[in-house]
Amino acid sequence: MVVLERGWLSSNTIVLLGADPVVIDTGHHRHAEQLLALLEHWLGEQHPQRLLNTHLHSDHCGGNARLQARWPQLLTLIPHCVFEATKEWSPSRLPFESTGQNCPRFAVHAALRGGQEIILNGRTWEIHECPGHDADGVLFFEPRERILISADALWENGFGVLFDALESEFGFDAQEQTLDLIESLQARWVLPGHGRAFQEVKPSIARARSRLAHWRQHPLSHAEHAAHVLIKFHVMVHQNLALQEFMSWADQVSLLKRIHAQDPRGIEFEAWLLERLDVLCAKKAVQLTPQGVLDA
Ligand SMILES: [Zn+2]
Repeated sequence: MVVLERGWLSSNTIVLLGADPVVIDTGHHRHAEQLLALLEHWLGEQHPQRLLNTHLHSDHCGGNARLQARWPQLLTLIPHCVFEATKEWSPSRLPFESTGQNCPRFAVHAALRGGQEIILNGRTWEIHECPGHDADGVLFFEPRERILISADALWENGFGVLFDALESEFGFDAQEQTLDLIESLQARWVLPGHGRAFQEVKPSIARARSRLAHWRQHPLSHAEHAAHVLIKFHVMVHQNLALQEFMSWADQVSLLKRIHAQDPRGIEFEAWLLERLDVLCAKKAVQLTPQGVLDA
């Protein structure tokens, strides 16, 4: 088993080596060629047979199309809630449009359902639903060695934005249930969606719980954090944008508009965006220069 760790723009890719190689998550499409080179290095003459996605965020499935072009026999399995929408490539029912992200179209062949098992390379893996970060996401657990592929539901330090909590107040409960589930699995190893694999699972769940308690008490700051993540991600993809370019992108992103609408001060969208950029500048996550917005 190999974890290809590639920072924040691209999720980790996990490769199950063996007679029937499996690839789990493919990172961002900007890194697709790099992923291909890494896979060819690890697989040698072998071709991966199956590609699984934990969830359909553009940093987890952006390389799918490239791998399918390279290995046309590759079977792609994705969570069942988004299977039909992906098969028809219906952008309004996929998460890319509302978050202002891009993902090249890819084919899908079978659905992954929570509560079912899947045999990968001779080992049985449980599939579990893990709402909170993504209502449609799944995680994979191998009970014999107690290995958990946790995607963005649990990182060593925290978890991904709770997109479900931006939709409804129950999103925080959903993440709590997901953390309860993860705790009950008693994993020995966690292979997260970003960051290194880790074994100190209990302290990491404790940190996640305290972060969740904080967000639950401050839902507006969680929503603002989500806006910062979406903006930083876009700047990371493009590296530098003229301010006007940035503003016209943001104008198309319905999720940013919904977060802005929650701001009780009622300030204009553009002023609110400039304030978001100021906060990101203060955190040294982006740079604001006369040329525009730069990644930092
Ligand atoms: Zn994600």
